[in-house]
Amino acid sequence: MITATCHCGAVALEIDAAPAEVTDCNCSICRRYGVLWAYYPLAQVRLVPPDAATDIYMWDDRSIEFHRCRTCGCVTHWAPVDPARNRMGVNARLMPPADLAPARVRRLDGAGTERYLD
Ligand SMILES: [Zn+2]
Repeated sequence: MITATCHCGAVALEIDAAPAEVTDCNCSICRRYGVLWAYYPLAQVRLVPPDAATDIYMWDDRSIEFHRCRTCGCVTHWAPVDPARNRMGVNARLMPPADLAPARVRRLDGAGTERYLD
């Protein structure tokens, strides 16, 4: 298990395993956040504490909640509004560097083709 934390420590995510690959997406929000996403089924990630103080940003079709720490502002994760989608993204930049280092970084053309470029 690995733990990703925001800068101030108010929000943590316990994850069953380190990611084998992470996504660098160029869409309008990801390029601004500057995040690397690690995708997981919902059951593999636990928010600690479960009621951690995050603010939520939604846009477009409002199907995804982007969470950021209410204290330090770090973008921590996104989660589907409909849990039946059973996929979420953890900001891998919040993981311990040694856990992130082995992951392959893949570039996603989210602004265009919605396909991976490598
Ligand atoms: Zn924080």
